[in-house]
Amino acid sequence: MHIKELFEEKEVVFSFEIFPPKVTSSIETIYDTLESLKDLKPDYISVTYGAGGNISDNRTCEISSLIKNKYNIEPLAHLTCINSNKKTINNILERLNEQGIENILALRGDIPRKSSTIGDFNNAHELIEHINKKDNFGIAAACYPEGHIDSSSLKQDIEALKMKIEAGADYLISQLFFDNNYFYNLLNLMEQKGLNIPIQAGIMPVTNKKQIERIVSLCGATVPPKFIKIMNKYEHDKEALREAGIAYALEQIIDLVSSEVKGIHLYTMNNPYIARKISNNISYVLSSVNRKKSI
Ligand code: FAD
Repeated sequence: MHIKELFEEKEVVFSFEIFPPKVTSSIETIYDTLESLKDLKPDYISVTYGAGGNISDNRTCEISSLIKNKYNIEPLAHLTCINSNKKTINNILERLNEQGIENILALRGDIPRKSSTIGDFNNAHELIEHINKKDNFGIAAACYPEGHIDSSSLKQDIEALKMKIEAGADYLISQLFFDNNYFYNLLNLMEQKGLNIPIQAGIMPVTNKKQIERIVSLCGATVPPKFIKIMNKYEHDKEALREAGIAYALEQIIDLVSSEVKGIHLYTMNNPYIARKISNNISYVLSSVNRKKSI
């Protein structure tokens, strides 16, 4: 099933993101996470690809296959193309096909600072075109409510989104953000450009101060004063900080769902406790809006 069909069936699509264990750890470490996540009945689960510099394509494919074939949940396999050649990408597409995986999040990937290698793809839209020419995958692409860290302006980002949509992206998943106004602004700009495919809001419950410092340095997300206050207040109390981070994410989600966004993509950080708390808290809200659609 192509994930785009879910947006036709549901008012709000709710999904999880997980990452493969490090190559030095056993693959089995992901089993417990998946065992817990499956009970929460997400609409689909996405699996990252080599984020942070590790090329873990085998594991992305293997874990996506497990999600599909063992847990009967739709997987979305992430795939980056920077520094890859067509042969490597075609091999991965073939493996995904063999495992019955039908959906790909097509990404450029971060440009490695030290590498001088040039691959066959420069941008995500070139990868999307390539996949569409070869196969019949459902395709998602990334978007950035505050603009991509490499882009000169949000306007340039919207142009990149247009190219990805014209190349065949079915829907978008956003980078994380802590102020919903950035997301609403992106929706408005896209509407003005006549770009109207579903966009899922990426939400990451932040539960420790180091995590937020790392995120900000990687993706440049703005941290609102309200959030900084929470971090500073509870930084020496692990449990209090975790619960405050979850409550903050919940407030964001309730506001987004009440504002008719098409989907929520939860960056679970492979932490079933967080995913469970969020899922349990929003289950009534989600079933209320989704019931409305099916009437
Ligand atoms: P693109 O859309 O190709 O480009 C990024 C930006 O560059 C554009 O927004 C635009 O500003 C500019 N740009 C692009 N094309 C042009 C052009 N022709 N002319 C001018 N400017 C242009 N990374 C991983 O390594 N693994 C993962 O699993 C992973 N998962 C992710 C999941 C989500 C939901 C998100 C939001 C990001 C994820 N990333 C992942 C990070 C992503 O790879 C990086 O943000 C990367 O730097 C950009 O990828 P992209 O597909 O958005 O690139």
